[in-house]
Amino acid sequence: MDFSFQSSEKIDIRSLTSEKLLEMALQMGQPKYRAGQLFAWLHNKCVNSFDEMSNLPASFREELKGKCVIRNLEQVRVQVSKADGTRKYLFKLFDDNLIESVMMRYKHGNSVCVSSQVGCAMGCSFCASTLGGLVRNLSAGEILGQIYEIQKETGERVSNVVVMGMGEPMANYGNVMDFVRILSDENSLHISQRNITISTCGLVPQIIALSNEGLKITLALSLHAPNDEIRRRIMPIANKYSIDEILDACRTYFDNTGRRVTFEYCLIDGVNDLPAHARELAGRLKGMNAHVNLIPVNPTPENNYGQAKEKDIQVFKDILEEGGITTTRRREMGRDISGACGQLRQQTLKGL
Ligand code: SAH
Repeated sequence: MDFSFQSSEKIDIRSLTSEKLLEMALQMGQPKYRAGQLFAWLHNKCVNSFDEMSNLPASFREELKGKCVIRNLEQVRVQVSKADGTRKYLFKLFDDNLIESVMMRYKHGNSVCVSSQVGCAMGCSFCASTLGGLVRNLSAGEILGQIYEIQKETGERVSNVVVMGMGEPMANYGNVMDFVRILSDENSLHISQRNITISTCGLVPQIIALSNEGLKITLALSLHAPNDEIRRRIMPIANKYSIDEILDACRTYFDNTGRRVTFEYCLIDGVNDLPAHARELAGRLKGMNAHVNLIPVNPTPENNYGQAKEKDIQVFKDILEEGGITTTRRREMGRDISGACGQLRQQTLKGL
């Protein structure tokens, strides 16, 4: 990378991996250990300004201020669920765009769900994130900033991260890879790659690329249908990639990484929740090292979908398990605070 600083645009320093930060520091004539100090301030102490970097010489801090910028997130709203303590955040970016993030408390630790884009281009019919289309990709630093702000606001450590907020992470591939590398770096918050999950609606070439990155993260695949016909009705991406192609890519992911793939299946009353659908799904996933996570659809004002009935969910789960497929039902958290993707931003944009 060329850090010759000729362009007028400042460098988004929180987005630089430790290798790129080192390269930049060397080009600025600094010794190697300074890059390590800088990385720790940015990603371990998670400071929001160069002035807080007290062990860096004042002259270097001034030079950094001139050439780089730390793109901080501003907390606009936080809603706390009375039912389960889930916290939902609305953050404003430097260009006034809004994104949301969620923190869920589990027995095994705190999990944060981050957004990877402002809006989304995928157009899934049940999802609120995609209603205004895609605005822009988030930088690696803006994805990290969500976790840093939440740790600061709660004073609690985050142990798990899921990229399941607004946006399609595989459509923002490079920035999401930098995000994973920085987050799991031993000198950052050092979140284990095993505790990082990326969820995708199924962009096949990117899933194959991901399987060759040498990462140990979990892949979650938003399947939501047992066949292409139903999938095309609810997810436009199904016109581009068939379920067979997606499952092949998931097999490659497992073969290359040894990581079991999670299939997300959001149950919509009368659309994809019939016993026949469960049997068809079990047949297709048979023999795969897979795990199905059932999620009753979260109704939004725009989607008009009904949640699958309790007994239908149970029957669906039983059929999958009888078919030898490990199945869990996702605990629904934060429903009283617009917990599903994009709902809080959508409400705020509409002035609610
Ligand atoms: N674009 C990625 C990640 C963001 S969505 C993906 O498609 O996986 C995270 C998960 O929430 C996906 O499985 C998505 O299908 C699901 N989801 C979106 N809206 C929902 C709703 N209203 N109810 C239940 N699940 C929803």
